[in-house]
Amino acid sequence: MPSPVLALIPTTLVAIVGVAVVVAVALIVAGLWSARRAASLPAAPKPTPRAPEPKPESKEERPLKPAAPRPPAAAEPPKTEAEKKEAYRLKKEAEAQERERRRQEEERRAAEAAEEARGRAEEEQRRAAQARAEAERKVQAQAGKTLADGLAKTRGGFMSRLNGLLGGSGATGLDEHLLAQLEELLFSADIGVKTASRVLEAARSKLRRGELANPEAVKGALRDEIERIVVSAGAGAQVPAAAPAQPEVWMIVGVNGAGKTTTIGKLAAQLGARGAKVVLAAADTFRAAATDQLAIWAQRSGAELVKGSEGADPGSVAFEAVKRAKEIGASHVLVDTAGRLHTKAPLMEELKKVKRVLQKAEPGAPQEILLVLDATNGQNAIAQARQFHETLQVTGLALTKLDGTAKGGVVIGISDELKLPVRYVGVGETVDDLKAFEPKEFVEALFG
Ligand code: GDP
Ligand code: MG
Repeated sequence: MPSPVLALIPTTLVAIVGVAVVVAVALIVAGLWSARRAASLPAAPKPTPRAPEPKPESKEERPLKPAAPRPPAAAEPPKTEAEKKEAYRLKKEAEAQERERRRQEEERRAAEAAEEARGRAEEEQRRAAQARAEAERKVQAQAGKTLADGLAKTRGGFMSRLNGLLGGSGATGLDEHLLAQLEELLFSADIGVKTASRVLEAARSKLRRGELANPEAVKGALRDEIERIVVSAGAGAQVPAAAPAQPEVWMIVGVNGAGKTTTIGKLAAQLGARGAKVVLAAADTFRAAATDQLAIWAQRSGAELVKGSEGADPGSVAFEAVKRAKEIGASHVLVDTAGRLHTKAPLMEELKKVKRVLQKAEPGAPQEILLVLDATNGQNAIAQARQFHETLQVTGLALTKLDGTAKGGVVIGISDELKLPVRYVGVGETVDDLKAFEPKEFVEALFG
């Protein structure tokens, strides 16, 4: 009998072999299956050789390409409905805040602009009020600045002493003592010795004839004699023709500082205000400043200025001015001249030359040779007048600065000695302070 172990061996072996066979078969099958699957997949693409990069075109040739659109921002992770709502609310809130900020900004700007406009309006109002006040002040000053005002100092000097002597309560009787006092007073006044003697003699003869009963009557006699002298010297200011056929040429002469340029400026302004077309000739060519001064007046008065360079021939400037006046149909040419000391022959020679040139420039010109005298010079003014008159045959006088002197009596002396009409008197520095001289008004203003 076989042993049980031996009996077991073939069974075990068979089982092992059997399992091995099964495993082997399974492996083969699995191998085959995977091979077939691999064969059914598409082959991996072979790497293709790189295409040659296109050569960059030159800048000029390259057409402008629109900028490539920017890639969209990385998509945010999807939001929940609540988050979306919150984001929308925040966006709207930011927009509303921006709108409010802009509105406030606009409001602020509008307020600033309004404030500025208000400030400007206030400033304008203030200026206008100032201008009105200034104009009013001027009107009052001008209205008040009569010839009498201009003669205030003269009245306060010589005339007040005369009044004290003849009109006051102290004057009791007419005697030689009173006449001696009167003589002294008249001689010390600026009417000049000759004129003083003449006036006194007139009073004396009336006294002798018994025509003067009291000191007041003596005063009346003096006044009559003075009026006779001033009136007989000639008419006052010339009244220019409305539309003269040719320009009237006025040559203005006088020593330096007498007030020639200022008087020309005032005349130009007054003529301009009446609608006259005026040409100013800057024939004082010695100093550039003289031309500048006249240029300012020309600008103020609307007159046309004709000037030459510094040191230019005054005659040629005067000639050009008359020519220009004819061209533009001006009614007046006012020729400013130099005024260096009249005692220097060259100045007088030069003025004579200017006059000759003006005569050539227009027949009948100069229609007026106006001598400007500074009243504060008193008796010297009379001496000056005589010299200018001898050389140039002056046709009229303008007496300036009466406002600044007690020597207004010089008008009487000049009228008496030179028999020249005083056309204008200056009683201040503004345009309206040049007054047409009226002899009777003058006497009235002097005696009050
Ligand atoms: P010019 O050298 O003869 O031309 O004299 P200006 O015209 O330059 O005048 C000399 C000065 O006198 C200036 O300051 C003027 O303002 C002043 N002046 C002229 N006329 C008058 C006047 O009538 N009254 C006063 N107070 N000053 C005057
Ligand atoms: Mg001058």
